Amino acid sequence: MIPEEIRNKYQAVIGLEVHAQMLTASKAYSDDVNEYGSAPNTNVSAITLGHPGTLPVMNKKTIEFAIKLGVACESHIHEEQHFARKNYFYPDLPKGYQITQDTTPICTGGQIYIKDDSGNEKKIGITRIHMEEDAGKSIHDVDVYDTLVDLNRAGVPLLEIVSEPDIRTSQEAYNYVSEVRKLVRYLDICDGNMEEGSLRCDANISVMLKDASEFGTKVEVKNMNSIRNVQKAIEFEIERQIITIENGESLAQETRSFDALKGITISMRTKEAANDYRYFPEPDLLPLVVKEDQINEVKKKMPSLPRDLFLKYTNELNLSEYDAGNLTENRDIALFYEELIKETSNYKSASNWVMGDVKSYLNKNGLEITDFPISAKTLAALIGIIEDGKVNNTIASQKIFPVLLENPSKDPLQIAEELNLIQESDAGSILTFIHEVIEQHPDEVSRYRGGEKQLIGFFMGQLMKASKGKADPKAANQLIRETLDK
Ligand code: ADP
Ligand code: MG
Repeated sequence: MIPEEIRNKYQAVIGLEVHAQMLTASKAYSDDVNEYGSAPNTNVSAITLGHPGTLPVMNKKTIEFAIKLGVACESHIHEEQHFARKNYFYPDLPKGYQITQDTTPICTGGQIYIKDDSGNEKKIGITRIHMEEDAGKSIHDVDVYDTLVDLNRAGVPLLEIVSEPDIRTSQEAYNYVSEVRKLVRYLDICDGNMEEGSLRCDANISVMLKDASEFGTKVEVKNMNSIRNVQKAIEFEIERQIITIENGESLAQETRSFDALKGITISMRTKEAANDYRYFPEPDLLPLVVKEDQINEVKKKMPSLPRDLFLKYTNELNLSEYDAGNLTENRDIALFYEELIKETSNYKSASNWVMGDVKSYLNKNGLEITDFPISAKTLAALIGIIEDGKVNNTIASQKIFPVLLENPSKDPLQIAEELNLIQESDAGSILTFIHEVIEQHPDEVSRYRGGEKQLIGFFMGQLMKASKGKADPKAANQLIRETLDK
């Protein structure tokens, strides 16, 4: 750790390059199956291998996905698309080149909204989004002697999202990758799974003195397999760079690799040794034209986006930012909530149910909301009978909800009636219970009357017990006070 006062002299500058594997059925330029976890080297045709005489064919879905992401980021979507070859040798790159977009990315400009370290909204500019293909995978840890190569991943379509150097802290970087992941999941174009490598992030990091007018020398860090590790790698790198500068040494522009076990970055190659990719136009693919019509078609089918829902929940439904953030964190949860509020206008109660009983049931059972047995309509009906004063929240949560989980087609009101759970809000029957409680606890009654008003909690507890939880708490609270204060 470097002393605070030294650290505080510097400002970090960060730009991220995120690669997202597209959830297409087939690969980017062939009909090989695009699937994670197949037996090694089973989804590999002659096209993927780049055998002489084979020709790539563009997968239309990837263009649609790129447009979707571009629309979501409010990027400029360009009409004319060219493809380029990026040439390099690597054992997991059978063609000897990668088909990518060099000078004509499909999208430029736009932004991703994140929260800064104080929780305020901040725009991170998008430099470009382009389409390309993944390489195969070199596996170093299965065979003791050799590196193994699995080419199933070769040719899987990718979108690369390059940010402007607008990010200033490791926490902002964490928030940025989280937002990108949330967005691609909402758009259903990538599963966002960093552990399986379907979402990957390279971080470009530099530091400069706070009053400097130019950015410092940047270092690119690779191989982080979780968002937390992106943050850790950046944190380490910022300190390393500050220490280097403070020691009077100069920083090399280089690519470094993150070692998650040690929590450090290690030099892989310097800029001087960097590959010259010799980009040139891909001769086997025709230029592609993205028409206004096609963009409008995609716009028509755009799903709700997390930020729009967040703004709707806070501005229109008057939920807190905490609730809105929680509900929109996961797309399917948000969609369930959307269904729920079509059936009930008690938005806050609906939010409490989703974030409370529903989520804890899912967590306890390791389930996703898509596996949740109770329909939004039935849950709304349960919220409705609480609102109508037929049962209280506790009864609904502890007695009716569990029955519904077992019998999701049952009607909540019917369950309440069958189990004799309908709340007593009728003053007469509540008073019977109150008198019972007062008779049984003469000491507490005199203490209450002597000024220990906090004993009201005790009486409410006793009353709930006597009424088996069926007394309407609001009516009961008032009646008990009136009776005791007499
Ligand atoms: P390169 O030509 O080395 O690939 P680019 O200009 O394409 O560099 O930028 C790649 C990424 O690095 C982008 O995300 C950009 O925002 C980021 N970047 C550029 N300059 C800096 C810098 N000085 N410090 C941190 N990040 C930077
Ligand atoms: Mg680059």
